[in-house]
Amino acid sequence: MANPTHPSPAGAESAPAPSDFIRDIVKADVAAGKYKKIVTRFPPEPNGYLHIGHAKSICLNFGIAREFQGQCNLRMDDTNPTKEDVEYVESIQQDVNWLIAGWADDRLGLKPKGKTPDTITVDAKPDFYLGPAESSTTAVEPFYASDYFDQIYEYALQLVKKGKAYVCDHTAEEVDKMRGAPDKQSEQSHYRDRSIEESLDLFQRMRAGEFPDGTRTLRAKIDMLSPNIWMRDPVIYRIRHAEHHHTGNAWCIYPMYDFAHCLSDYIEGITHSICTLEFEVHRPLYDWILENLGLPRPLPHQFEFARLSVGYTIMSKRKLLQLVNEKIVTGWDDPRMPTISGIRRRGVPARALRQFAYNIGVTKYNGITDVAVLEHVIRTDLNQHAQRRLGVLRPLKVVITNLPENHVEQFDAVNNPEDPAAGKRHVPFGRTVCIERDDFMETPPPKYFRLRPGGEVRLKYAYVIKCDEVVKDAAGNIVELRCTADLGSKLGGPTANRKVKGTIHWVSAAHAFEAEVRLYDRLFTVSEPDAEGDFKKHINPHSLEVVTAKLEPSLAKASAGERYQFERLGYFALDPDTQPARPVFNRTITLKDTWAKEQQKA
Ligand code: ATP
Ligand code: MG
Repeated sequence: MANPTHPSPAGAESAPAPSDFIRDIVKADVAAGKYKKIVTRFPPEPNGYLHIGHAKSICLNFGIAREFQGQCNLRMDDTNPTKEDVEYVESIQQDVNWLIAGWADDRLGLKPKGKTPDTITVDAKPDFYLGPAESSTTAVEPFYASDYFDQIYEYALQLVKKGKAYVCDHTAEEVDKMRGAPDKQSEQSHYRDRSIEESLDLFQRMRAGEFPDGTRTLRAKIDMLSPNIWMRDPVIYRIRHAEHHHTGNAWCIYPMYDFAHCLSDYIEGITHSICTLEFEVHRPLYDWILENLGLPRPLPHQFEFARLSVGYTIMSKRKLLQLVNEKIVTGWDDPRMPTISGIRRRGVPARALRQFAYNIGVTKYNGITDVAVLEHVIRTDLNQHAQRRLGVLRPLKVVITNLPENHVEQFDAVNNPEDPAAGKRHVPFGRTVCIERDDFMETPPPKYFRLRPGGEVRLKYAYVIKCDEVVKDAAGNIVELRCTADLGSKLGGPTANRKVKGTIHWVSAAHAFEAEVRLYDRLFTVSEPDAEGDFKKHINPHSLEVVTAKLEPSLAKASAGERYQFERLGYFALDPDTQPARPVFNRTITLKDTWAKEQQKA
């Protein structure tokens, strides 16, 4: 969608689509005319918030739909009532919509349930973070595997009637033990040779609620001698007297993942069912179920790719939930979290995440992606799109003694050197300014080009100043610098072209306003926090620092959808904790990678 303030520059969206082994398969299937339309799906279980690994899968599945004029379904894989919740359903829907909204114009072939793609509008209230550049007229509505429970149950009955499934009275522990291991023999269920009639009767009574949890299961009758343990008569239905977030109390038996998943794919007409490598061993079962039900073709096919793991973070929803529950972070959307909602809140544009997903590619080999790859994409994106502003995180007062008491003038500052259309703005300047505490040192090391006693520095867009006097309090802390400005050194002045080694940022003390600024660091101190032992041992105690910064007045009109570069400090975005009297900004990322240096110092 065209955005009046930010014309979309060349970037991820106009770059050629990536190529990888899955896209090659799809391409060949299209060329062979195998399907009328390519249909993929993204099937999260609503048992937690989505993380950046899911973002890779979303970009792959929706990306393929987009590139091949196909369709991608967002499907809640909701077959486990006790772990799932509507809160998660809603967050997943919001995160997916946010991530793919920039692709909306391409229609994506999205076909939200019950609506036609051309008439969809977002009626929900606009999200705090969804600025004009990322809001969209197209919203994806989820499908629910639980909407197919009737059909899936019918398919199970068919298997029983064909003698390909039986009711087993062993407990879960017994079934597990009797299944053996790839290198260990299995033991057959005592109920495997039950008559079709008896199994049919028992399965229907399971559904009717006659038996308590865990007393019986329905198992596919496949091959107890298979080297693949997933084929050793897997459980396909279990009894669970639990209320479901979507189907309420309609069911007390629930299909297992393997049974529900392939059938949901089939029901939705999925052509390419793309999942992560750990499901490769489940593929024979996926195919067995569809084949043995004798379903009309074409059948969906499963393809596997390597999951994303990123250094210095963890990716499992179960462990992320622990961080939330134990209040190690402030919530699922804490800006330090690798969740899509955390990354969004931190200020990363969806466009950058999509670019990241494209850059890392799709392979069959698991590995760890260096966080630097993600950070590079974010910096590149924000450099192109962020508005430049002046802000001082840790202010030190500077009085310019050769300017009159009430002196005010305006300097022109460029909004974005990467984007001439972003224009200029005026920044007020007065007799007292604030500079960054780090930009002054009384006894600096060699090659320190910022301010020192007797030294000179340029205040960006303004004058060259010289430090004449350092004022300290009784305890010896520096409280003020007294300086003189070279009044001819401003733009257009006789000494405007004077070369001084350092240029620093500043704000006018009389015009600046205070804001809370949250500075983030990595949540973990080691690159593989869950490699062994307790991942919580590796929490970085300094992952959040809060400062009261002074910001140039134009930032008082900052908008949630906009990103800002505070010159020399990094990229920042407004946080939803913002109150009218107390703006809060998050530092999305620093301008350069300072982590490597910090590590050396440590
Ligand atoms: P977790 O193990 O983190 O709890 P999950 O695999 O249980 O995640 P699902 O909700 O089942 O999460 O995942 C939905 C889809 O996202 C699946 O197709 C899954 O293969 C994919 N997915 C999950 N994690 C990753 C990852 N790290 N990289 C790429 N794809 C992923
Ligand atoms: Mg899963």
